[in-house]
Amino acid sequence: MSPESQIQDVVNSVYEKYAGLNEGEVATYIPELSKANPHHFGISIVSTDGVVCSAGNYEQEFTIQSICKPFAFLLALEGHGREGTLARVGVEPSGDAFNSIELDPKTLRPYNPMINAGAIAIASLIKQNPPEAGVRAFVERMGKAAGRSLRIDQDVLASETFTGHRNRAIAYLMLNWGVIEGEVEQILFQYFSQCSLLVNCRDLAMLGATLANMGSNPVTGQRVFDFQYVKDVLTVMFTCGLYDHAGEWAYHVGIPAKSGVSGGIVAVVNRQLGIAVYSPRVDAKGNSVRGIAACRELASQLGLHAFEFTNVGSSFMQWLSAD
Ligand code: GLN
Repeated sequence: MSPESQIQDVVNSVYEKYAGLNEGEVATYIPELSKANPHHFGISIVSTDGVVCSAGNYEQEFTIQSICKPFAFLLALEGHGREGTLARVGVEPSGDAFNSIELDPKTLRPYNPMINAGAIAIASLIKQNPPEAGVRAFVERMGKAAGRSLRIDQDVLASETFTGHRNRAIAYLMLNWGVIEGEVEQILFQYFSQCSLLVNCRDLAMLGATLANMGSNPVTGQRVFDFQYVKDVLTVMFTCGLYDHAGEWAYHVGIPAKSGVSGGIVAVVNRQLGIAVYSPRVDAKGNSVRGIAACRELASQLGLHAFEFTNVGSSFMQWLSAD
């Protein structure tokens, strides 16, 4: 049996196993998100040698929400370097909810770029003048990573712009402490637009595989991100990607990952795979219930936990012999 059909069999079996799991609720605090179909469930895996396996509603589009955060962090690192970026945001897990209104009391920076405060600080670094240019640059780069052109869901963007007062409060807190500078509405336009990027499950797995493949899209072969910063991004995904569930996730799944409140999860197995699950029913922490269950099962069946003895894909010797 080819490795491709072996992976497809595993994807199918995990899909079947959790198709009936109906716990969690579709997020409604951004009113437009409440229109998602709670039954949708898709899984995709893309390997760094370009094999793509999917099951379920993997072509259903949804807004990327917080899964934009690691990619925005990468763009900030490319544009401002480590020193310039880390002057504005830390790399410490907060252990708190994604939307908590808090800064590190010692440094006055947001704890990390995976929570809203940190992502808004990052948006302030990658915004441009005029504001549309910064959004366009983000959308274009994400399109290269996905291997197809992507677009913003204007209805979700409008919905969050009208109702996102908690994020506005976070931004004004940071403006007060000098973490961000300039126009709050322009910074939030960049952040809300990033969150409103439409992707499907297959795109998300391709985005993950591009990180796994040191910044190059494994299917188009195009270099998308500066590889020297991929490790920075994977590290904060590993320690902070699931907010106040990050420790449990690292223990049980053991793969850098990022979740979004619309129900997506992307997980990155370094030098091997991008994995994505979409299912809009989320738990109280804003993480997809079927997403967590499916990723845990995939990691277990394929032996993907970072410290699993069978996981040798990222070993230095294998990397050398692949060149
Ligand atoms: N746009 C959402 C917000 O800022 C993203 C949150 C998330 O996906 N966890 O609230």
